[in-house]
Order: sequence, then C-alpha cells, then structure tokens
Amino acid sequence: MAPIQKECDYLVIGGGSGGLASARRASGMYGAKTIAIESSRLGGTCVNVGCVPKKVTWNAANIAETIRDSKAYGFSVDQTAPFDWPTFKQKRDAYVKRLNGIYEKNLVNDKVEYIHGHATFTSPNSVSVTLDDGSKTDISAKKILVAVGGHPSKIDLPGAELGINSDGFFDLEKQPKKVAVVGAGYIAVEMAGMLHALGTETHLFIRHEKFLRTFDPMIQDKVTAEYERQGIHLHKNSSQSKIEDLGNGMKKVYYKDQNGEGTMEVDTILWAIGRAPEIEKLGLDKTGIKQNEKGHILVDEYQNTNVEHIYALGDVCDRGFELTPVAIAAGRRLSDRLFGGQKDAHLEYSNIPSVVFAHPEVGSVGMTEPEAREKFGNTVKIYNSAFTAMFYAMMDPDDKAPTHYKLICEGPNERVVGLHIMGLGSSEMLQGFGVAVKMGATKKDFDSCVAIHPTSAEELVTMK
Ligand code: FAD
Ligand code: NDP
Repeated sequence: MAPIQKECDYLVIGGGSGGLASARRASGMYGAKTIAIESSRLGGTCVNVGCVPKKVTWNAANIAETIRDSKAYGFSVDQTAPFDWPTFKQKRDAYVKRLNGIYEKNLVNDKVEYIHGHATFTSPNSVSVTLDDGSKTDISAKKILVAVGGHPSKIDLPGAELGINSDGFFDLEKQPKKVAVVGAGYIAVEMAGMLHALGTETHLFIRHEKFLRTFDPMIQDKVTAEYERQGIHLHKNSSQSKIEDLGNGMKKVYYKDQNGEGTMEVDTILWAIGRAPEIEKLGLDKTGIKQNEKGHILVDEYQNTNVEHIYALGDVCDRGFELTPVAIAAGRRLSDRLFGGQKDAHLEYSNIPSVVFAHPEVGSVGMTEPEAREKFGNTVKIYNSAFTAMFYAMMDPDDKAPTHYKLICEGPNERVVGLHIMGLGSSEMLQGFGVAVKMGATKKDFDSCVAIHPTSAEELVTMK
C-alpha cells in the first residue's frame, strides 16, 4: 500500500513533556498546522515511567514513615500491617492511564493532529511514520522538532539483563524483599530511599565514597550519612563483575566494595546508572544533525540544531538538565519564537531549581560551593545551618532526622548564587526561594523578609 502523504507547518517527533508543550502552543495559541507523533504512550517519560508514578510511590513511602513516626505522637497504629503493593500499583497504573487520556484530549482541544507511530527522518524536512498496523505515512514539514527523550543506560557485564531499570521498577507487581540498587544519581537515590522506607532490605552500590556527586558537597555528605543512619546498606567504592540466575526468582550479585570481594542473593537488581538519548531508529544520518560523543543532539540556547528548520529539546539534547519543566519551558518558548513572533524567546539555562525526592528531600538552585569559588574566588561567603525540625520534637533521639541548609553568597552585596537544602519539606520550599535567586536576591533581601514561625524554612531568612 502506498504511504499516505501529509504536509504541515510544524512536525513534532515525540509526545513527551517537551514535544506536547511545544505542539500545543504552536497550534492552540498560534494556529500553526501541527502534527505530533508518539510511538509509545502520550506524556512520555515523566507521565509513564518518571516523575508521576515516582512521586506517587514517594508519597506512599512518606506515609509509611509517618505511620512509624505516629507512635511518638501517641497514636497506636498497627506497625506490622504489610503494605499492599499490588493494589497500590494497580491504582497508580490507573492514574497514569487517566493522564494519558487527558493528554490526548488536550491535543484535540488544541487542534494538534496526533499520529501514533514511530518516526524516522527520510530527509531534513520529511519523515516516514510507521503506524501500529505496519502501514506508513510520509510527512513533510516546514519546521521539525525532535523531542524524543531518552532511555535508561545499559551496563555491560554478564547477566546484566537479569536486572531491571527504572522503567521496570514501575512494572514490579510485587514489592522486592531484598534489592540491589546500582547507581549514584537522582534515580538510584530516590528509588533506594522509597524501597527502604516501604520496608525492602535495600543495598545501594555506588562507585565512590558518596552519591549525588554533581550536588554541593554538603548535600553529598549529609544525605549519604543520613541514608547510612537510616539503615540503607551502602556499598561504597563498589563494582559488579557478574549476575547469576539462581532459578527461584533470586539472583546472585558478584561484587567488590570497600570491604573486598563478595556475593549477595537478592530478588531484584535495579540499574540506575544514567540515561542515553533515544536516537537509534530516528534516521538522524539523513539530516546531517550534529551530535556529541554520547549521541545527544547539539543545540544552541534557542534549541536550534545545526540544520536549518530542525530544532531539538529535552532529554535528547546536551543542555545538562534532564528535567520535565526544562523540556516544557524550552518547548513553549520555541513555539513563541517560531510561530508567536517573539524573536528572542528562549529558555535561560541558569538558576534552574531541582529537587531529589530522597529521604529526606533535597533541593538545590544555583551554584555549588566549588563552582562559586572557581568563578568568584574569595568574594564568596557561605552560611550554614544545621538543626532538627520541630516535627521530630516528640521522637526518641535515634529517630530524629537532620536538616541542613546552605547559602552561597558572592560579592560585597552578598548576592545569593547558590541555595542547597535537605530536610523535611524541602521540595515544596524550594520553588519560592528559586524565584528569589533568579531575581538576584541578596542575603539582605533574604533577611528583610520576616520569618514564618514555627517552620524549617524560617532558618533560611535568619542565617548568621
Ligand atoms: P520524554 O518525556 O522522554 O518524551 C519523549 C517521547 O518521544 C517518548 O514518549 C517516546 O516514546 C517518544 N519517541 C521517541 N522516539 C520516537 C520516534 N522516533 N517516533 C515517535 N516517538 C518517539 N524530571 C523532573 O522534573 N522531576 C522528576 O521528579 C523527575 N523524575 C524522574 C524519574 C524517573 C524515574 C525518570 C526516568 C525521569 C524523571 N524525570 C524527572 C526526568 C523527566 O522525566 C524527563 O526530563 C522528561 O520526561 C524529558 O522530556 P522530553 O520531552 O525530553 O522526553
Ligand atoms: P544521573 O545522571 O543523575 O546519575 C547517574 C549516576 O550513576 C552517575 O552520575 C554515576 O555517578 C553513576 N554511575 C554511572 N555508571 C555507573 C556504574 N557503572 N555503576 C555504578 N554507578 C554508575 O542519572 P539517573 O539515571 O539517576 O537519572 C537521569 C536523569 O533523570 C537525572 O540526571 C535527572 O536529570 C532526571 N531525574 C530527575 C529527577 C528529579 O527531578 N527528581 C528524578 C529522577 C531522574 P558516579 O560518577 O558518582 O558513580
């Protein structure tokens, strides 16, 4: 059967965070004839196997912690009642499915034509889409956005396929009893924290002494120490040599860590060692688009690739922030620029706040201390605060978790160029402080804001 032929102003490849945001703005707000192509589930990584199901699981883990903490406040809650993972998973899946439907309706409302299929470039201004039934649609477009995201990186060792990655985490029908999590970034730290809080015996294998090594040293030190204090088994300076299938759902991990060589039997191995761009079957060779050595598409701050009329954004790029709001903001600004007449619209890739939903939460915006010292030398002034949140007032000393805040200021006006927090409530607290840092607030501006008492956040406006 001959392929169907279509034409449009704007062709968006990838129906995830960035692609959908850009397509909807181009069509819904500016009337550009837009087609969006998605090969899997609408909403992309964030909705299906990322932020959304992760945050729902994190909420469950927090409730588990609250149930434990409730005793100190005089409640008698049955601490032995098991967590019903299968029911929880079923409800979480249903929520995600509802969101998929809402995303499809939003495309209809904004008059974006949605095609479910896999897109491959056939030239710099045309793609071929393979539909679910194997038939093809050829589309030529005046402008094309590549927003295809990424996938979990693979590790190369014998038996690696016996492990799962973050996608597989959301498919788990049963709660792991004993897990080996390998990795040291956002995903490993979040998933190890959630599993531990829900009662899984959790072993976290990291290659160095600490995890979250792209964060400020205070965060690295304090969160690593807190995970150890909570009883997560940390295997530092570790590596794995092979994984063996023991046949009864159990796997044997051969590893080396700070204590030497060892083996461990677990029911689940979770690889969380970073992500790679989803470019394998995209036909980029037909376009001449430049990529870095890891395959990420190279773009400037306007999301322009080196090929005229082809743009890229989100996790497929090399901009250093693999975050949903970054992809969304870049997508909207791109459509403002291409179709809304806003010639200079683009996302500023600086002072982007982000949160690690660890236990406890971590929030960070701006420079780390080493980055600030390298840029501003000895004009840098650091403020630190360490305390126990009032929530823990009723707990035994061993059950109290720490809170640590750090402000990094620069110059005679003490402009705040970095803010790093860990402790209860940090994730909700960061957004407002992110606005202040983005506006160029100084330490004096922070101090002139009257504290809200009794909160943890008040420490950030009273630091000495
Ligand atoms: P994606 O959302 O990945 O969308 C790309 C889409 O393109 C996919 O749906 C894919 O199927 C489709 N596609 C790929 N190739 C083709 C093709 N050839 N043809 C058609 N379609 C194609 N970020 C946060 O801000 N906060 C969080 O709490 C957070 N938690 C996360 C937790 C996990 C476990 C993971 C993995 C990620 C998390 N992220 C979080 C990161 C966030 O999900 C990503 O940064 C974001 O989804 C990137 O958006 P994107 O539009 O670039 O790509
Ligand atoms: P990250 O890039 O955050 O971290 C991966 C880390 O794993 C590396 O930095 C490295 O740390 C370690 N690592 C690499 N290879 C190995 C190996 N062979 N063995 C052991 N450890 C290894 O990737 P993630 O997969 O955690 O997450 C991908 C991105 O998704 C994040 O960067 C983030 O942008 C986004 N995300 C955001 C979230 C949020 O906003 N809350 C939550 C989840 C993901 P080291 O060098 O120290 O060994």
